[in-house]
Amino acid sequence: MKTILAIHTGGTISMSQNEKGEVVPNDENPIAEEQVILKGQINLITDEMFNLPSPHVTPEVMLKIKQRIMKAIDEGVDGVVITHGTDTLEETAYFLDLTLPNTIPVVLTGAMRSSNEIGSDGLYNFRNAIMVAATDESYGKGVLVVMNDEIHTARYVTKTHTTNVATFRTPTFGPIGIVTQNKAKYFQELIQTEVCDINHVVEGVYLIKAYAGMDGSLFEAINNKNTKGLVLEGLGAGNVPPKTLPAIQSLIDNGIPIVLVSRCYNGVAQEIYDYQGGGIQLGKMGTILCQGLNGQKARIKLLVGLSDNMHGDELREFMGNAIS
Ligand code: ASP
Repeated sequence: MKTILAIHTGGTISMSQNEKGEVVPNDENPIAEEQVILKGQINLITDEMFNLPSPHVTPEVMLKIKQRIMKAIDEGVDGVVITHGTDTLEETAYFLDLTLPNTIPVVLTGAMRSSNEIGSDGLYNFRNAIMVAATDESYGKGVLVVMNDEIHTARYVTKTHTTNVATFRTPTFGPIGIVTQNKAKYFQELIQTEVCDINHVVEGVYLIKAYAGMDGSLFEAINNKNTKGLVLEGLGAGNVPPKTLPAIQSLIDNGIPIVLVSRCYNGVAQEIYDYQGGGIQLGKMGTILCQGLNGQKARIKLLVGLSDNMHGDELREFMGNAIS
């Protein structure tokens, strides 16, 4: 029988609605009490590690979860499920994907409706996540996110709706599998990437989104020695308004790595346009193009790379820009 560790961290999945209709955290986790798996099927062990709404989750919390999973791997568990608030679930999932050895299935899940609401999805998602973590085919797929009968990679999944239970989507590439009749079925493979076994996390890594008519003010505001890196969500394929350019150049001149992604929901950032502020010009200025990740994930990746002491060409290659 497989042993699966469930790490609870908080979020709506462990909250309840009060008499006024407000969704609030509980002292006792309501789903930890429930019998979600048939006796004798799986040996489920539980760690109530945190009880945080996910906007309270920080990279330090992510690192503690990573360290807890490393311990569980050493102890011989067969898989790990993490329950987590959905707001930042994709960031924790991707942090773990970048920092854990790809040895046992690690699956994150959450809920859009709290534990006592009609149509609550928490227990269902939790049960599915356990089944996916206990499936042999889930080995070697990186960290996974299981919600609403779909299996997504941590690398590309994103929360797309504020309240709908079908909120988690993988734009451009799609989910890699589905959960059906309590079993995981896979239809795609994930390209393997490098793992960074970090034991601390740097601060001062920011995310800024470009918009029509933008000037350099936001870039100037972070141009100081505490800033370690910046992810810039550019327009379209990865372009910015021309008035931002002097401030961007000044950050680059001060040795602050700037990673360029697109603010578009679908597609990847590319160096296509050769006009003032176009992607080609940004590349010549020294920005690092990161293809396929959204802004919040590129920020997690940059933070992990910097925490692993990467600089210059090594960081550029890690962020997805092959050196020619
Ligand atoms: N705001 C909640 C959280 O992220 C949302 C959820 O869990 O679904 O903690």
